[in-house]
Amino acid sequence: MPNKQHALLVEDSPTQALLTLAELEKLPDVKVEHAASLAAALEAIAKTRFDVVFLDLTLPDSVGDETVKRFCGAAPELAVVVLTNHDDDAQALQSLEQGAQDYMLKARIDAPSLSRSLRYSIQRKRAEILVREARDEALEANRQLERRMRQINCLYGVSRALESHELPLKVAMEEVVGIIPSAWLRPETIGVRLTCHNGLLPGGFVETPDFVETPWRLEAQVFAGSRPAGRMEICWPESRPAEGSQAFAVSERELVRELARRVGQALERACVQKELVQLATIDFLTEALNRRHFMQMVGSEIQRATRYGRPLSVLMLDIDHFKRINDDRGHAAGDEALKAFVILCRDVLRDQDIIGRLGGEEFAIALPETGLASAEVVAGRVRAHLAEMEIPLSGGDPLHLTTSIGVAECKVKEGEGLEACLGRADAALYRAKAQGRDRVEAAE
Ligand code: GH3
Ligand code: MG
Ligand code: MG
Repeated sequence: MPNKQHALLVEDSPTQALLTLAELEKLPDVKVEHAASLAAALEAIAKTRFDVVFLDLTLPDSVGDETVKRFCGAAPELAVVVLTNHDDDAQALQSLEQGAQDYMLKARIDAPSLSRSLRYSIQRKRAEILVREARDEALEANRQLERRMRQINCLYGVSRALESHELPLKVAMEEVVGIIPSAWLRPETIGVRLTCHNGLLPGGFVETPDFVETPWRLEAQVFAGSRPAGRMEICWPESRPAEGSQAFAVSERELVRELARRVGQALERACVQKELVQLATIDFLTEALNRRHFMQMVGSEIQRATRYGRPLSVLMLDIDHFKRINDDRGHAAGDEALKAFVILCRDVLRDQDIIGRLGGEEFAIALPETGLASAEVVAGRVRAHLAEMEIPLSGGDPLHLTTSIGVAECKVKEGEGLEACLGRADAALYRAKAQGRDRVEAAE
């Protein structure tokens, strides 16, 4: 007969075994085997797939609770009916708690009650398995949900870091790279590497296709606007197992694309910001500081010098007979001359010196940590270099320039401000002009 239920009777008493087997054999759709000890039963279930087990609790090799526990542990998918000798409800209930599905008193065993218990315990076992599977699925769904939540929090953290106005972009990027791995990536990945080529992060930049995926590396191009500006990648370590066994997950692919997009937006914002700041602070033609920014920066330098009793000097420079250059060689040549003048000043000066274009062909230079004598030396050097310089012009002879310079050391001990100090330097400049130009004059 097809679909016969396969039952195992575990009973050590030969008499009881004969009685129970005789009743079981009356059931037409049940096939029975017999084991006389727990060891023999475990051996039987290892060999054959049973549907149900009738289990005597008192066996030569195991007694009471222990028998149920050991059996159910070894066969978690199998329906178990416990056979008890006495009318012992406490023992029977405990068996149910330990994994059995039903119990029967040996004294009341007959074919109909065996048949009922067999069907009932099998159904109950199936229901238990379904409940367990549903619970496992719910737990797994919960785990997925938690992972998603962590990823969302991570993206939120990334956005916050990138949009923060307090953090410099470079620090924000480093934070981005730090936030991601634990929340998003499997622990075996090396983590995220971000390379940008506009000086924000170190690393050589090579332009690559928009998206690259190999079994061990994911890489997305970062665009600032439409300009390729870097790349975002995650990699497996070199010790990864064989090919194909570790394809990247959809979420990892999404992550790399999404991060590349957000980092690109942040880069673009930073570039626009930088341009705005430049427009507001830098003279467009010569790239010296404009008057307003020069006054601001040197103003705070003077405050610092005053507080710490440090020297600071300023030079006022005015190119000689500049009008003639415009008149003789044209305004464009005049512009070239102004640019060349600032480049020459930068060559002669130190990094911390500050050059500003105060207007027209008038410039000022602030020299922090410099007293009057040294400032005069610097001014003399600028004057001499300029006088020797030839500025090549397309379509004509090279230009020659000279400049007059007034030098003043800020009287920090007397609390002199920038305006007053520049006024003294300007008076010295006026004297230099009056005394024939191409000269340096110092204020007292
Ligand atoms: P001095 O030796 O007394 O300083 O004579 P100068 O000709 O240099 O003095 P002045 O101040 O009379 O002339 C300055 C000229 O600089 C007038 C102006 O046309 C020119 N100038 C100012 N700004 C610019 C500029 O951005 N580009 C050009 N090409 N010329 C400029
Ligand atoms: Mg002038
Ligand atoms: Mg001039």
